[in-house]
Amino acid sequence: MAGIPTYRWRFAPDGLATRRQLRALGLRPGGQDVAAQVERPRRRRDPLVAYLYRIEQAKPVRPMTPAKWAALVKANAARRMCPQCHADAGYVIPVSLGMCAPCAYPADEQRAA
Ligand SMILES: [Zn+2]
Repeated sequence: MAGIPTYRWRFAPDGLATRRQLRALGLRPGGQDVAAQVERPRRRRDPLVAYLYRIEQAKPVRPMTPAKWAALVKANAARRMCPQCHADAGYVIPVSLGMCAPCAYPADEQRAA
């Protein structure tokens, strides 16, 4: 592609990523123009250059829909519920504890009371 900077493979500046690298970050170019291109190491069947996109202009792979937000809220609520006392701990139950702090450390709670 003419008119855009070309970098050697692995010498592209920070803040730019190929489509595949964006994908690994859960991002997509999101309609932005190609910012630059890198020459790829020569390999059969691969295109000779890869296009680079600005990470800051990239968008999440899947836009969140209201249904997805609701599912996320529900999942987070489930993660906040203590399996021991079934109360909403107000924070995500640490996996290491597996229960809310008062349940995990009842002695501490009594001392504090
Ligand atoms: Zn609890």
